[in-house]
Amino acid sequence: MKNVAIVLAGGSGSRMKSKIKKQYRMLGDYPVLWYSLQAFQSCTLIDEIVLVCGSGEKEQCREQFAEHYGFSKIRKIVEGGRERTDSVYEGLKAIENCDYVLIHDGARPFVDEAILNRVFEALSDNPACVVGMPVKDTIKQGNPEEYVEKTIPREKLWTIQTPQAFSYALIRRGYDELFQKEYPKISITDDSMVAECFLRIPVKLVEGDYSNIKITTPEDLDYAETLLRRRMRSLHH
Ligand code: C5P
Repeated sequence: MKNVAIVLAGGSGSRMKSKIKKQYRMLGDYPVLWYSLQAFQSCTLIDEIVLVCGSGEKEQCREQFAEHYGFSKIRKIVEGGRERTDSVYEGLKAIENCDYVLIHDGARPFVDEAILNRVFEALSDNPACVVGMPVKDTIKQGNPEEYVEKTIPREKLWTIQTPQAFSYALIRRGYDELFQKEYPKISITDDSMVAECFLRIPVKLVEGDYSNIKITTPEDLDYAETLLRRRMRSLHH
């Protein structure tokens, strides 16, 4: 059995309003990207990590993450593409002989052992699993004039996080089809959509964590500092 994590760090992070991309910004003592690499490095069920970086960043990533921080499971570093979907496909194409692949946003530093354990447990009887949480807010659909069209019943709604985990052969087939036939006509915002649209297989929802946030704006980084301090305190008690 071989399981691979694709960690995505190929985004431009334009909403961060900073010269340094969000995944390389410091959070506590380490860059944001370090935390998810650490989670996969220490997970015994993960054999290898494929790191997807931005264009021209391969060497810097190899020096910093594979060498300096010593993440020995990083076997390949590949350059991503224009959209997240392009970056995922580059990651998938870099993998050989794999049973399950976990696709994770490098901008989500708080993925942890508990989440990964739930994902692997769900994978034992589902070939497609996504991590998410039930929504806490009331969600409404608005019209272009910004008036409420309707309220969506909340009980069934989940906000979706990563990792998203799949049988490698299946998700590779889905992405091959996406790139051969439809792309870029439909807007794909997460990997589960590829399974839903092209493979038509059920996708299992797995409980993530409300703190498994994606760092997008400067405010998210402030909040992440708070979450990190809380996590450190709970580790020491
Ligand atoms: O842009 P967004 O916040 O949705 O990105 C989610 C994750 O996907 C981030 O970790 C980002 O680095 C990655 N990404 C990528 N290639 C892109 C766009 C986003 O690897 N072209």
